[in-house]
Amino acid sequence: MTRRRWIAESWDETSATLTGAQAEHLARVLRAQPGMEAEVVAGGRLFHATVAAVTLSGEKSEVRFKIASELRADPALPVTLVMAVYKFDRMEWALEKATELGVAGIVPVVACRTEKHLAQAAEKRIERWRRIAHEASQQARRSDIPAIHAPIALADRVRMPSAATRIVLAEQERATALRHAIEEAIAKPEDKLPSFEIAIGPEGGWAPAEETLFDSSGWRAVSLGPRILRAETAAIAALAVVASCLE
Ligand code: SAM
Repeated sequence: MTRRRWIAESWDETSATLTGAQAEHLARVLRAQPGMEAEVVAGGRLFHATVAAVTLSGEKSEVRFKIASELRADPALPVTLVMAVYKFDRMEWALEKATELGVAGIVPVVACRTEKHLAQAAEKRIERWRRIAHEASQQARRSDIPAIHAPIALADRVRMPSAATRIVLAEQERATALRHAIEEAIAKPEDKLPSFEIAIGPEGGWAPAEETLFDSSGWRAVSLGPRILRAETAAIAALAVVASCLE
């Protein structure tokens, strides 16, 4: 039987604890009782555990698990999405689906064509974005939660040193398909599997100055095909391509 998987907020050597809304849901809706078995993620490691104690008390609710043994955890897809900030509802959809697909991290970036009011409001959305990633990780039975970084100016992220293979999705690019760039990186004779950073533009696309900056900073422009995709579609399609090459 597939056991439910929970991501603990706190833990030590022998126990892990869920609090607040998660604990409330587990106790009230799923009727958690001492002895119930579950899988618990604590500190990025996955454990077989049993419920040791349930305390129902609104925001202070708590479910404490006794850790039994460590299980093999599946690693995240080694991809960080560098996503231009755009309409929050669409971005949040992308964030949830990218989490299900195994993304390792998401960096929201303020691009030239990010609307001003969204750029200003982005900082205040981080906690909400982290909650979405937490819930989606749990739902997808991941053993980790993708890192949701604080928003940053695009130019700062593009110039930041990185060991990853850096790719920018560009709808006007025709010569190089994303799959081709991924396969080339995998074929390099290196010990470690490569990791990737993939940048996705806002609704209005990249500004010419941004394209030049990507190019001069060593990012490779790639295509996802001849059709213009919405940014969230591009994010999901890109992750599916990487997953099909690596998993
Ligand atoms: N500038 C475009 C327009 O209005 O014609 C739209 C940009 S598109 C909605 C948003 C982002 O998705 C792009 O900046 C790019 O990163 C990515 N994207 C969309 N379609 C793509 C494709 N066929 N190949 C590569 N990237 C694509």
